[in-house]
Amino acid sequence: MDGLNMDYQLNVPAILRRGEQLFGDKEIVTRLPDRAWHRYTYADFAPRAKRLAAALRNELGLGDGDRVATLCWNHFQHLEAYIGVPTGGMVTHTLNLRLHADDLTYIATHAGDRVLIADKVLWPLCESFVGGCGFEHLVAVGEGPTPEGAIEYEDLLASAEPTDLPEREIDERSAAAMCFTSGTTGLPKGAVYSHRAIAVHSLASAMAGVLSVTEKDTVLPVVPMFHANAWGFPFTCTLVGAKQVFPGPFLDPESLLEAFEQERVTVTAGVPTIWMGILGELDANPDKHDVSSIRCMIVGGSAAPQAMIEAFEKRHGLRITHAWGMTETCPLGSVSDPTSRELALSEEEQYRYRAKQGIPAPFFEIRARGAEGLVPWDGGSMGELEVRGVWVSSAYHDAPESADRWTDDGWFKTGDVVTIEPHGYIEIQDRAKDLVKSGGEWISSVALENALMGHPAVAEAAVIAVPDAKWQERPLAVVVLKPGASSTADELREHLAPHFAKWWLPDRVEFVEEIPKTAVGKFRKTALREQFAAQPAETV
Ligand code: ADP
Repeated sequence: MDGLNMDYQLNVPAILRRGEQLFGDKEIVTRLPDRAWHRYTYADFAPRAKRLAAALRNELGLGDGDRVATLCWNHFQHLEAYIGVPTGGMVTHTLNLRLHADDLTYIATHAGDRVLIADKVLWPLCESFVGGCGFEHLVAVGEGPTPEGAIEYEDLLASAEPTDLPEREIDERSAAAMCFTSGTTGLPKGAVYSHRAIAVHSLASAMAGVLSVTEKDTVLPVVPMFHANAWGFPFTCTLVGAKQVFPGPFLDPESLLEAFEQERVTVTAGVPTIWMGILGELDANPDKHDVSSIRCMIVGGSAAPQAMIEAFEKRHGLRITHAWGMTETCPLGSVSDPTSRELALSEEEQYRYRAKQGIPAPFFEIRARGAEGLVPWDGGSMGELEVRGVWVSSAYHDAPESADRWTDDGWFKTGDVVTIEPHGYIEIQDRAKDLVKSGGEWISSVALENALMGHPAVAEAAVIAVPDAKWQERPLAVVVLKPGASSTADELREHLAPHFAKWWLPDRVEFVEEIPKTAVGKFRKTALREQFAAQPAETV
């Protein structure tokens, strides 16, 4: 039919234009490697992002769709790459600086990266893997001498004018960014984000009831910019004109709390292990830190234990919003921001809901499949979560062997086992690979972990399946006690007993100093299984 709306391109340059035109005086603040603070505004940032784009094309000879890798902490130059590279028609590929050199070689080669923008403070890591990759240029970011063979980032920017970037519309269906899964469950695989996916993801993230980010916010993403598209914050914040604060390499609780206080941060986001550390510091020194500016701490990447949500709120007046997502979903999938239905429940019930993963974002649909087909939304039937939506990957980059991660009708199989309530509230029970299958029935390791972490003596708990002659598998709990605390396996089982069927209770509890973590701070259950699953079953 004629008379339709304009075919306006939903792309990253449009996000940048908005940030520049409307919010030029808003600040972008970074903690530098020497702990000094760098401050500038959107009016300073936007021309630099465009200079970068123009220089990559004109000076380094890149063209549409070419990959530009970054190996950087969270800082303003990384933001310039996040926004500038796709504004120039190229693709930002964030590399995870906590990975092993061999993984980085594999990932950069598989992605076909042509240029690497890396922090000078990460140069030793950079040198450990670039030799095996096809980079044509290395660009060095930060203070200090330029490493041999590298181009100085500031020199690259100075070589182009913002106006050198030709005026043209970038197709919203072209690639803007890519990110590899962190490899918790196998070889890393590349998710590619289109301009359209990023634009609509940013709009949805900013919505009230989703992440609710507005111009009035000061946002400090603790989540590394190399993890899962930085949960979309660089784009969402630039679109709405929020003040952005970057912690640089300093992710320890003290430094973060200092940054929250100094910059009057209102919204921050990261994985539960970060918040456990911050909770420990706030509990130890309750009067030392002024965190009154914070209105929302977004927690995702792993399940946020209910005990942690309650502890922050009751002891420190800090509110947690629990979100679920994946690298393959840009990453936002669902958010547990209580609706009017949950707000009508008792306080205890509300906390129970806040520890679930919530309802899906708009334009993001869910369903769950069990052995017999799709499972009902009854809050009890478990099935693997399948999703589809504007910003869900339709394939991995150059990995036809993984096509079975999508159903015949095009939904993405998340690998997460969930229950869904009649009103769409999701609860992640486990990763399919982590489920404990005992006597033919599933046991949720996440539910046991959350309950264990609700015990006052427990700092961290991970539950894994160990082989069992009679039951096929049984749950084993690996527990880290809080400093100075003591407990026993029997006491922990008693703590769990009122909340679970008897056969769910772990037969074995192993007390350890530390639970091994992945590159982004999640429990590395593969390592725990290697460590404990082979040992003969003994009752502790
Ligand atoms: P990786 O799969 O390598 O860990 P991702 O960071 O993409 O990389 O991880 C996505 C996975 O993290 C999800 O499939 C899910 O298992 C887990 N996850 C993310 N957010 C949550 C959450 N709020 N609660 C429970 N699990 C979560």
